[in-house]
Amino acid sequence: MRVRITVLGKSPAWQDANGACSGYLVEDAGTYLLLDCGNGVFGKLRAHVDFVDVDAVVLSHLHADHFFDLIPFAYALHYHPRQQPVPVHRWEGTQTPARPTLYGPRDTKDVLRQVCGVLNAECLVEEAFDVRQYDPSDVLEIGPLRVRFHPVPHFIPTWAVEITSTNGDGCFTFGADHAPSDALVEFARDTDLLMIEGTLPRPERTGQRGHVTPFEAGDHGRRAGAKRLVVTHFADDLDEAWVRNEACRGFGGEVTIAREGATFTV
Ligand SMILES: [Zn+2]
Ligand SMILES: [Zn+2]
Repeated sequence: MRVRITVLGKSPAWQDANGACSGYLVEDAGTYLLLDCGNGVFGKLRAHVDFVDVDAVVLSHLHADHFFDLIPFAYALHYHPRQQPVPVHRWEGTQTPARPTLYGPRDTKDVLRQVCGVLNAECLVEEAFDVRQYDPSDVLEIGPLRVRFHPVPHFIPTWAVEITSTNGDGCFTFGADHAPSDALVEFARDTDLLMIEGTLPRPERTGQRGHVTPFEAGDHGRRAGAKRLVVTHFADDLDEAWVRNEACRGFGGEVTIAREGATFTV
């Protein structure tokens, strides 16, 4: 058991009361990876780790609830006093400003420029982070962590994410946002922990599907043979007991409901 995952935010497109949207802190041997950075996540992150110690941020897709808090994160990286060039004797600790790597899908730079452009700060995020657009066939190496991607069906290009470590043989799979997906079942085959969305109280009535219900989430976990299933990305408007029961029914076993601050190890 080496890799630790902390739920920073589990809300869907609007955050729970006192909650946050998609964000998971993944750590191993002093390496910190932030998986998604939705609205509300930056404040939650700060309760667990100093933001200058975050090595990398990885985005599953470019919906607001998965990246909007890059904006306050970028402002902190620009303007926090420790990030300003200052004489050594005035400030102890690092003199080199932190500049985490930001890995996002293709179009990340364009989308961030458009969003920040309306704030008259087009390059805000690009200057604060070392922004790299991943090729989904890449395996990212972030300290001991290894990150792989697989496409899942959603309203925009979206990538499920697998994280393993060279320090152990545990496997963590994050499904991101998705419609029912056999591809996700294959990608998550025999994973130690599948963090999967259970957004909908019922399947979409019309149009393209983009999310799953808690029952469908459980069914994906069962078919993948996931050793542990955690259901996330559901609103506090839903009855948590109903979410769990539905997911358990689909999984055919015990399921954990994501709560902010909860930690898991693989
Ligand atoms: Zn989402
Ligand atoms: Zn989405």
